[in-house]
Amino acid sequence: MRFSSPAYLAVLDDAPAKTRLRISSACCARMREHAESGYPLEVCGLLVGNMDRQGWRIAQIRPVENLNRERAADRFQLDPAAYQAIDRELRGTGLEIVGVYHSHPDCPARPSPTDLDSAWEGFAYPIVSTRNGSATNILCWQLNDKGERFRAVDIEIVA
Ligand SMILES: [Zn+2]
Repeated sequence: MRFSSPAYLAVLDDAPAKTRLRISSACCARMREHAESGYPLEVCGLLVGNMDRQGWRIAQIRPVENLNRERAADRFQLDPAAYQAIDRELRGTGLEIVGVYHSHPDCPARPSPTDLDSAWEGFAYPIVSTRNGSATNILCWQLNDKGERFRAVDIEIVA
């Protein structure tokens, strides 16, 4: 199984989560619905909100096109123009882009080596696992302090 291979295990840092993703059930539902509507392809999008030492507080989920069409079943590439447009739109609002979510069709909600290569420090990375077209679970990840592996982030559902 690909997800238990040494390459995948080397991506994870087993230290307990120090940070939380505070997010509403509506925002979680939005990510799930997006993942299901794109199945069996990977979908991706941005998390908009704020960040502090404890983690992130998410205000909006913004679906963005996955530009990777060749391997859209297991890779994603955010549309950079959409990213810039949302970034510009948020200027002066007190909100910013604080993370990137994507789906793993028929795969666990754990990050892959490719996800590690494209991850940015300070960003939250929720992954939505979908099975047969239904979103099953969401796990959230961030780069560890050294920036060389992912560690788990607790998800806290808030109003
Ligand atoms: Zn991934």
